Amino acid sequence: MKYFFLYLSIFCLVIISACSSDLYRATNRSYKKQAKNYAKLLREYPVKDSAGLQYAESWVGTTNFTMRRPNFVVIHHTAQDSCGQTLRTFTLPRTAVSAHYVICHDGTVHHMLNDLLRAHHAGISKWGNATDLNSMSIGIEIDNNGSEPFTEQQMNSLLQLLDRLKRAYNIPQANFIGHADVAPGRKVDPSRYFSWQTLAEKGFGFWFDTTNVELPADFNPLLALRIVGYNINKPEIAIQSYKIHFVPQDTTRMINDADKKILFDLMKKYQ
Ligand SMILES: [Zn+2]
Repeated sequence: MKYFFLYLSIFCLVIISACSSDLYRATNRSYKKQAKNYAKLLREYPVKDSAGLQYAESWVGTTNFTMRRPNFVVIHHTAQDSCGQTLRTFTLPRTAVSAHYVICHDGTVHHMLNDLLRAHHAGISKWGNATDLNSMSIGIEIDNNGSEPFTEQQMNSLLQLLDRLKRAYNIPQANFIGHADVAPGRKVDPSRYFSWQTLAEKGFGFWFDTTNVELPADFNPLLALRIVGYNINKPEIAIQSYKIHFVPQDTTRMINDADKKILFDLMKKYQ
């Protein structure tokens, strides 16, 4: 009888693990099929662009090229209740959203898309003069409902991943940003619980030091926000995104004297 239960539990475990590996079989097949179609496009000779256009009379293939590389990392929180829910969202065609990486509460990292391909995570976005962040960035989603702290395991996994990406693609320190930074008013992730200071201390994004800052009389804080990268078409929401990132304890949309010093210091680091 003792062995019966042992065998039964082994049998159950086998069934459960088989089911979980089956869970994404169909969507993994769909990934392969889409990647194959892009590979076919890349093999076209003479070259057409992705819209099927042929711009020139003459084709001479160069021998020297690589794939384009991501130059930004955009960090998000999922605003969902579990990693499984997010993986499901990102594998349903009708949602039309995705990310390159998803980091679960326990620190597990799921890679969902080749870094060289374009994920649908940033949407309508602007940072500096860049207007299609999806085309130039890697999207990282952290499993978090938006009103809870990020776990230590998540932050450890995130820092390891950022370190690899920064080295692999030579991403500048200034180019590690949040969804709220590039889509002010439309997005507020990652939330005020996210420690950008921790990231900056490890070389991902910058943090401020106002110790010896003396403000020039003509200092313009809005212009400084623009130099850092924010879209200031609607100043109030640009200020809101700046506060989420740099002064998370302050929920106002007002620039005060302390903010002016912070922005003066940040402007010099980001320009
Ligand atoms: Zn987001």
